[in-house]
Amino acid sequence: MSTQRAKRVLVTGAAGFLGSHLCDRLIAEGSDVLAVDNFFSGPKENLAHLAGHPRFELMRHDVTFPLYVEVDEIYNLACPASPVHYQHDPVQTTKTSVHGAINMLGLAKRTGARILQASTSEVYGDPSVHPQTEDYWGNVNPIGVRSCYDEGKRCAETLFFDYRRQHGLPIKVVRIFNTYGPRMRPDDGRVVSNFIMQALRGDDITIYGDGSQTRSFCYVDDLIEALVRMMATPADVTGPINLGSTGEFTMLELAAAVTELTGSASKIVFEDLPSDDPTQRKPDTTLARNTLGWQATTPLRDGLERTIAYFRTLVAEVQ
Ligand code: NAD
Ligand code: UDP
Ligand code: UDP
Repeated sequence: MSTQRAKRVLVTGAAGFLGSHLCDRLIAEGSDVLAVDNFFSGPKENLAHLAGHPRFELMRHDVTFPLYVEVDEIYNLACPASPVHYQHDPVQTTKTSVHGAINMLGLAKRTGARILQASTSEVYGDPSVHPQTEDYWGNVNPIGVRSCYDEGKRCAETLFFDYRRQHGLPIKVVRIFNTYGPRMRPDDGRVVSNFIMQALRGDDITIYGDGSQTRSFCYVDDLIEALVRMMATPADVTGPINLGSTGEFTMLELAAAVTELTGSASKIVFEDLPSDDPTQRKPDTTLARNTLGWQATTPLRDGLERTIAYFRTLVAEVQ
């Protein structure tokens, strides 16, 4: 009889949009998954389908407090990601990134677990280098309304690299660019969920500013594949590595695609641009291609169709 046990994987922020898809993937691969979340911006329903699975366990826990468990790998995703959520309680957002990183790094140090940090393209701020490469240090406002998130994530990266230099930890840092897909929250204020919900309800589509700002949108399945590949890299691969799609779209183009694919008659309205809103963003993903053999492959229209199908069921449920 084989005595080999399943790999024990801790996912923090597991009830969130990305975390829940990651749990699905890890369970499908045969891992033993410990899902941790305080349900601040991710609902339990995102994991309801895994309840009762023999290799799945869900724990309510806030990562700003210590956590003593025995695991082999840690994916640290805990942190509200949408501006509406992370600006709701900005002090808690910084604590989640910074104290959360310290606790998870302490846990990794004690257990010898590999640890992956979900960092963000926001570490580049409003970038003056385009597309953004990993060696660009960024252009971040330290005192603005986005700073709790941006600077929290920057400090978390610092902690990861100091734990590596000081304690030799096997760290992995990925900088995730805008990602979308099913299980985004309809009310989280992010552009893809906003536009789709507005289109499906026949409400006006709200473009902030003149709509010429750009983003690159990565479909969730592509992103999850990259996270798993990153965790499996040799110990000398630490990152930071950009993960995202290289297709670049203006918000006007995104609005046009969403109205066309939903068949919506919604009209476009223009509202004020939030402060510190980056004007251009697109990753240089050469490093991800070379190191992980990965690139985002789902075309925006395909990903949008799958996401729209998900939001249609949500809208139908409340009607
Ligand atoms: P999300 O808000 O859907 O998920 C984050 C999860 O973390 C939520 O379930 C929330 O309840 C949980 N959480 C928040 N504070 C916590 C705390 N103190 N203790 C325990 N759990 C806590 O966001 P997401 O889009 O799934 O993002 C996941 C991670 O990926 C985040 O760290 C985010 O910064 C990063 N990221 C996401 C994107 C994106 O486009 N989705 C882009 C860049 C980086
Ligand atoms: N920690 C944790 N789980 C563990 C080990 C540590 O949550 O299994 C927390 C602990 O509360 C500590 C933090 O991680 O504050 C950093 O741990 P480290 O060992 O690096 O530092 P120290 O204990 O010296 O503060
Ligand atoms: N945006 C918009 N209308 C909305 C929501 C967002 O025009 O209803 C814009 C927002 O100003 C930003 C872009 O879309 O320029 C992406 O916003 P999101 O909050 O999704 O992500 P981030 O700004 O963090 O990249």
